[in-house]
Amino acid sequence: MEQENEKRQRLVIAVDGPAGAGKSTVARRVAAALNYLYIDTGAMYRAIALAVLEEGVGPDDGAAVERLARGLDVELVPSAAGNRVLLEGRDVTERIRAPEVSAAASQVAALPRGRRRMGQLHRRSAGGGGVVMDGRDIGTVVFPDADVKVFLTASAEERARRRWLELRAAGHAPSLDDIRANIESRDRLDSTRDVAPLRKAEDAVEIDTTDKTVDEVVDQVLELVRKELDSCSTE
Ligand code: C5P
Repeated sequence: MEQENEKRQRLVIAVDGPAGAGKSTVARRVAAALNYLYIDTGAMYRAIALAVLEEGVGPDDGAAVERLARGLDVELVPSAAGNRVLLEGRDVTERIRAPEVSAAASQVAALPRGRRRMGQLHRRSAGGGGVVMDGRDIGTVVFPDADVKVFLTASAEERARRRWLELRAAGHAPSLDDIRANIESRDRLDSTRDVAPLRKAEDAVEIDTTDKTVDEVVDQVLELVRKELDSCSTE
């Protein structure tokens, strides 16, 4: 019984939502507060997209992308600022945030064949729990039985503004209109694709982050976690 409780208390927390809704910031902070592992699944799609662009492969060429992705070594290394992303041992953490990589990542992620394999990799990287994982299909496909599921949203204007600030801080100089167009086209692709489309799991709690501070959203998620832990310990 004691052991069962200990096992149950290492929760799986799924954080899904569209681009710029605050998933990675919130997921990273929640993971740090709980001393859990944080896994940014979008970074894995982005790393593959970067390799695809570097190799001159068309991001919508399913067979070629699959061939390339099969042999790729993508590693997420935990760090205080989030996951460092290694592609074939090379640190591509900053490079994968470029707008052209974002666009290619959504195209690569819409290819049916690679997604099953990605899901397996995500599940394996979660170990026995004690993990906060963010993405588009974590609560619906990767971990349909996640202990806590959160679906973050925000207005398109606010999401574009956040990405713009992030990119500027990283030394890029994109226009706000371009960022918004990029985000909207990714949303469209992510929500309308046949496999694992972006949608809220029925049992996910939706949080609109438009007018909330990061602290407020993190507190709200931690409150959901606390309730789940309480219900585990009384079971
Ligand atoms: O979360 P992020 O914007 O970094 O993800 C990049 C792209 O990867 C998304 O636009 C989406 O197409 C894809 N993705 C996905 N499933 C996930 C995570 C990301 O399809 N679990």
